[in-house]
Amino acid sequence: MELKFNPVQVTSDENIEEHVKVLILGSGPAGLSAALYAARAELSPVVLSGLELGGQAALTHTIENYPGFPEGVGGLELGELFQKQAERFGARVDFETANAVDLSKKPFHVVTDNKVFKAQTLIINTGASHIHLNIHGERELTGKGVSYCATCDGWFFKEKKVVVVGGGDSALEEALFLTRFATSVTIVHRREELRAGAILQRRAMENPKIHFIWNTVVTEIVGEKAVEEVKLTNVLSGEQSTFQTDGVFIFIGHKPNTELFQGQLEMDLRGYIQTDMMMQTNVMGVYAAGEVADPHFRQVITSAGMGAAAAIQATHYLESQS
Ligand code: NAP
Repeated sequence: MELKFNPVQVTSDENIEEHVKVLILGSGPAGLSAALYAARAELSPVVLSGLELGGQAALTHTIENYPGFPEGVGGLELGELFQKQAERFGARVDFETANAVDLSKKPFHVVTDNKVFKAQTLIINTGASHIHLNIHGERELTGKGVSYCATCDGWFFKEKKVVVVGGGDSALEEALFLTRFATSVTIVHRREELRAGAILQRRAMENPKIHFIWNTVVTEIVGEKAVEEVKLTNVLSGEQSTFQTDGVFIFIGHKPNTELFQGQLEMDLRGYIQTDMMMQTNVMGVYAAGEVADPHFRQVITSAGMGAAAAIQATHYLESQS
């Protein structure tokens, strides 16, 4: 892959510079685990939290598959625990977002609204974002009944009817959460087999508030000031119908947040950063961990493990440079 360098668009006061040994982009499980390991190696890492402190995991109501919490743990609470533990050993978390990076210079340049960081090593954990359906009404009605986060918006659907789009773990987990509020939750899935794991499938099937519409896609979301109905098409018969609902929750997967690194780091066709087993990217001293580099596992525990591995490798790299 030929890499073309994207020039840095400096928007901050270039006079304010901070030199760091380890700069970590993103504060999800991968970023904060990297911070813990780098801090314990006495490298005083700085984490740029990005807009979503705690990453996607922080938006999850209960995480039941992170070891050490037999009763489950709140996503936000787990993020706060990760942060506290990293800070205890000297990590610093700044509520800042990287606007531009230049990986052709050493130290690497990372520009935020407030300053230019000059980093000897960079660990990228910028995660992934929700994929949109890209249908009429989706953008217009976002925040007016269209949502991508049940934990954030579920409460607004007390005693209301909602539709969930998707058939993966996220769709089922969030659908189950929505049954706390909504009178009915209808999952619209484009096949007649769910992608989600067995436990979630069983729970959803057994929940009397959850219903399924199989082999069907949502083609339009309709409403004036708020969602009123969705238009549906059966993908096998082509039959079209409408379904009245107060809300539409969309969980059809994610795309990696890698725009910032286009042309500077090798990526696969879907835009995931390519690393070797050591979390090393094609630029020495730049590592990637968590969902930004992992289209496959995408679990809190795997992201945390990758973050730790990246920090261990960054430590070795710094030792080899001194
Ligand atoms: P996912 O596994 O990729 O599932 C996406 C779902 O959306 C699939 O059912 C897919 O249908 C459907 N879909 C995709 N594009 C669509 C479109 N344009 N229109 C309609 N439907 C569409 O994504 P996810 O559920 O967000 O999960 C992502 C990863 O995180 C997975 O590895 C999952 O195991 C993990 N995760 C785990 C947990 C947990 O362990 N508790 C919780 C959440 C997520 P098809 O099935 O037909 O492809």
